[in-house]
Amino acid sequence: DPTKSKYHPIDDACWSREDKVPYLALAITLEKIEGVSGRLKIIEILANYFRSVIILSPEDLLPSVYLCLNKLAPAYEGIELGVAETTLMKAIAQSTGRTIAQIKTDANATGDLGIVAEQSRSSQCMIFQPAKLTVQSVFSKLKAIAQMSGHSAVSKKVDKIQAMFVACRHSEARFLTRSLAGKLRVGLAEQSVLQALALACAMTPPEQLYPPEVINAAQKMSQDSFKAYVDELALILKTTYCECPNYDRIIPVLLEKGIRALPDHCHLTPGIPLKPMLAHPTKGVQEVLHRFENLRFTCEWKYDGERAQIHLSEDGAIRIYSRNQEDNTSKYPDIIGRFHKAVGDGVNSCILDCEAVAWDKDNQKILPFQVLSTRKRKDASEAEIKVQVCVFMFDLLYLNGKAFVREPLIKRRSLLRENFREVEGEFRFATSIDTSTMEEVQVFLEESVKGNCEGLMVKTMEEDATYEIAKRSRNWLKLKKDYLEGIGDTLDVVVLGGYLGRGKRTGTYGGFLLACYDRDNEEYQSLCKIGTGFSDEDLQKHTTFFKQHVIPQPRPYYRYDSQHEPDHWFDAVQVWEIKCADLSLSPVHHAAIGIVDPVKGISLRFPRFLRIRDDKTVEDATTASQVAELYGSQEQIKNQPGASKVTE
Ligand code: ATP
Repeated sequence: DPTKSKYHPIDDACWSREDKVPYLALAITLEKIEGVSGRLKIIEILANYFRSVIILSPEDLLPSVYLCLNKLAPAYEGIELGVAETTLMKAIAQSTGRTIAQIKTDANATGDLGIVAEQSRSSQCMIFQPAKLTVQSVFSKLKAIAQMSGHSAVSKKVDKIQAMFVACRHSEARFLTRSLAGKLRVGLAEQSVLQALALACAMTPPEQLYPPEVINAAQKMSQDSFKAYVDELALILKTTYCECPNYDRIIPVLLEKGIRALPDHCHLTPGIPLKPMLAHPTKGVQEVLHRFENLRFTCEWKYDGERAQIHLSEDGAIRIYSRNQEDNTSKYPDIIGRFHKAVGDGVNSCILDCEAVAWDKDNQKILPFQVLSTRKRKDASEAEIKVQVCVFMFDLLYLNGKAFVREPLIKRRSLLRENFREVEGEFRFATSIDTSTMEEVQVFLEESVKGNCEGLMVKTMEEDATYEIAKRSRNWLKLKKDYLEGIGDTLDVVVLGGYLGRGKRTGTYGGFLLACYDRDNEEYQSLCKIGTGFSDEDLQKHTTFFKQHVIPQPRPYYRYDSQHEPDHWFDAVQVWEIKCADLSLSPVHHAAIGIVDPVKGISLRFPRFLRIRDDKTVEDATTASQVAELYGSQEQIKNQPGASKVTE
């Protein structure tokens, strides 16, 4: 139980008040986290570090949080590390006097350049001891490195990195190298970092906030009420982060005013993308009607394009963000240029939730997702754009200075229709019907498929109909055309390894090991092997891509059975969307182990590759609990009399 930690935030810290936090303190914390696997233990270790920072050096909390997450700025600022391995090797070589060849050999043997950097540290005695690294200095240097570009950027990077390496002590070089390479690999998820922050604030409240009696009162709470208090803070913090995913704004308020004050200061703002609401899969019209019995609901076409959150700020700036809060503004100059046509006269700021879909102008038709994916991802110039898009608007989250996420869909939708206009082939409201008869839903579903859509989104209108930021909500159900052919939904899985191809497939991988993501334990659990659905070009493309991500050993957070050991292991870097016939219990696969069966996992039968999901990170992959849910809902169907054919 992390709330019972015996850690003393002042006495047990390895630095003292008003000192800058040494980078070593963070490196030691990460080292401990790397060495344990339980989520609660990880939270406790991290919270203890945060507690010391809060009480001794609060100005270092922000860079500490960023470094733990291996981020430098909010996702939409697009400042990312990912220094090439060769650059890192050069810097390690220069700072230790070893050759690049030696370092390469070691890296191939251990699979972790971080460890190599740590073990290569120079034993030479230096006349001038370099200044010790601090959390702040490392953070600002990493940011500077990420922003270097253009002429001689590589050599400037090498110099800067080398200067840091020379100053590294103990495990600092390990984590510095991994940060630079873009992956910390300790199995620390963002939700755990937020939980640890809330726990730290509850156990060691920022001093300037409260007089000592208040702090003592919190510490004298009964164990149960203290746990409830921590959970309350964590919920506020997580909710705030969903609405305003920006630590630059959150951390100062948290330190100066406390977590409970966050909702008043950090909320929905045009220009800051929020995490979108997501839908639950269903297997058929019947299930939808059953779930929404006695509720008013609406059916909308489910367009197969790319989610587009369109923000208009009061200063007139228009920005478009992806499902993952990346800034897609420069991908869609065409939408930006004509957005004013869709905006009504009284609108001076807004956030719209939409789907951008490839559009055949000549035939006034929706085109498949594959066409959209050929568009340039960044810095597209309007003149060069070949694939036209039409934006389908389905929700309004913010209008003229006010958030509407807590209002029901019926209100949001009428505001959307009152304040925005359709423009032929450019902006449309999602096609919808408000009905509750089985026949009409079925017909509408068929129409949507004929219209080149994926199926329907069915949404509650009045009761339980708020916009649930960042949630996979039961108020939105997706009804995909695929449901008739197998399970209710496709899965988004992480590729962990490859099997070398034989015969016709010699020279490429012929199959892959796939996994789901278990959020609770922060691990990837094997789900199935896949070898179908690929064209020869696909296999070539995957092979070229994954050859760059081969690692000699599986990560400690991969769960698999030795029976399925692939020929090559990969870093968890890519998500694939796949389809399967059904899910079954498996003695050898580890997905959702312990959820539906104490020792067996769940695996997929007849998996087929559909496409790469570039808009999802590996932590957005289908989770263990979703896999368990899919398995469970299939069991229910199986148990219905006369329904066995569905899954046989
Ligand atoms: P998820 O987003 O649920 O993790 P996913 O990315 O695979 O899964 P889907 O399961 O296909 O997406 O369904 C949700 C997506 O459907 C939304 O993120 C959005 O991009 C798209 N979409 C298309 N039409 C609509 C609509 N009318 N309402 C809401 N979302 C829609």
